[in-house]
Amino acid sequence: MKYISTRGASEPCTSAEAIKKGLAADGGLYFPDEMPLLSAEELTALCEADYAVRAATIMHKFLADAYSYEELLDECREAYREESFPGGPAPIASLGDTLRVLELWHGPTAAFKDMALQIMPRLFVRAVKKTGDSRRALILVATSGDTGKAALEGYRDVEGVGISVFYPVNGVSRVQKLQMATQEGRNVEVHSVIGNFDDAQNGVKKIFSDPETAEKLNERGIFLSSANSINWGRLVPQVVYYVSAYCDLVKCGDIAMGEEINVTVPTGNFGNILAAYIAKNMGLPIHSFVCASNRNNVLTDFFETGVYDRNRAFHTTTSPSMDILISSNLERLLFLTCGETETASYMEALKTTGRYTVTDRVKRILDREFVGGSCDEDGTAEEIRKIHQTYGYLCDTHTAVGLACAERYMATVDGKRKMLAVSTASPYKFSPAVLKALTGEVPVNELDAMARLTELTGVMVPAPLAGIAAKAIRFDPDDAIKADGMSETVLAYDRF
Ligand SMILES: *Cc1c(COP(=O)(O)O)cnc(C)c1O
Repeated sequence: MKYISTRGASEPCTSAEAIKKGLAADGGLYFPDEMPLLSAEELTALCEADYAVRAATIMHKFLADAYSYEELLDECREAYREESFPGGPAPIASLGDTLRVLELWHGPTAAFKDMALQIMPRLFVRAVKKTGDSRRALILVATSGDTGKAALEGYRDVEGVGISVFYPVNGVSRVQKLQMATQEGRNVEVHSVIGNFDDAQNGVKKIFSDPETAEKLNERGIFLSSANSINWGRLVPQVVYYVSAYCDLVKCGDIAMGEEINVTVPTGNFGNILAAYIAKNMGLPIHSFVCASNRNNVLTDFFETGVYDRNRAFHTTTSPSMDILISSNLERLLFLTCGETETASYMEALKTTGRYTVTDRVKRILDREFVGGSCDEDGTAEEIRKIHQTYGYLCDTHTAVGLACAERYMATVDGKRKMLAVSTASPYKFSPAVLKALTGEVPVNELDAMARLTELTGVMVPAPLAGIAAKAIRFDPDDAIKADGMSETVLAYDRF
């Protein structure tokens, strides 16, 4: 198996090279040139295995050219250990007869990004070594919240790697700010930046494209890298939890082996739902995919009309991790349906005009398995209330968008098959919006909202968020730097 670019104009490479590089030289995304298969016998055997074995088995199918099964199993045992994911990495909650919720937020930062970012740094460090590179890597992240914290936790104290995170001083929530300001680990650095997310993001982009910075760092034996969600090393661990969830449903007698289920995913960059689609392509019995969006419904329109058009207003919502106009990983789905030449032309059109229209043939293929749904702000709040009232289940805003779309699909299209709806964040990560949805109360601050939610629902605050206010501040948010001072900060990094 080799890794090729979705745009077809880069040299094929190994899985280790793909993980080290992130993006292909032609601007495309890496994808394996053949789909590994998961047989019914293998799936049956995995039902008896724990999460680490399931993860190593699935990941080995994609990474065997560079990683041994034993290596992967060692890393998975470490990454998904009980201390990091108390009670297991991906438990399932039952809401009534057919609706199942796959909770992916039991990791160190209480958001689903942990599922990939706890293992990806381990794959990355090995990738650097396997490609014969003796330099150290400095990971740069511009974040509007969740990714930065999850990357910090994933890369903390990883040998041979440093990480520097930049967030807009007034662009993240109080809890997110506290989460990053109190970050522990020898090799981590966190900076608040004066300005908004774009200022921080542009600052990081500038550093990545500046040859002078690269040369200065190279003289010290350092190269820059990102923790971006388009990296194959972040995608492949996400395939695992769909297989694992299926095994768990079989094990508890909810479905019979081989029975098809449907899947709903609250979607932003299209990584999570694409991982589900890859699982199906490997042989996992999934029938349809519901792609759930908030008011930023560019994907809903795409699946309905075949036209992807980013030329539209951007809305700030209570599900901010889904506020996105360009879903990068959609490129991999296009590649799977129509190959590299057509994909390259769509991406060129997106770059120059902000839109593209897929052919009737592609549209027909997508129609067979994908349906888009969207849920606005009122609908999100209503869903949080309804799910709590009906099932006594507390969900966050992103999960609520997914559940609303899942329930609509079950009521109008297919109410028979089990629906696995993915839950991407702890309700406590977005407490003010959740509390307001339940009671109409507008809390004075986020910490109060957390306490009120517990009082109201009896649901425990996840351990990583519970003690946050009492933790020592290590990187003072008030020491904000200017965006044009970011490269100086990067050059001064010295925590390897
Ligand atoms: C990142 C994120 C998403 C979107 O996931 P994609 O893989 O980018 O589609 C949804 N919900 C939460 C809470 C997230 O952090």
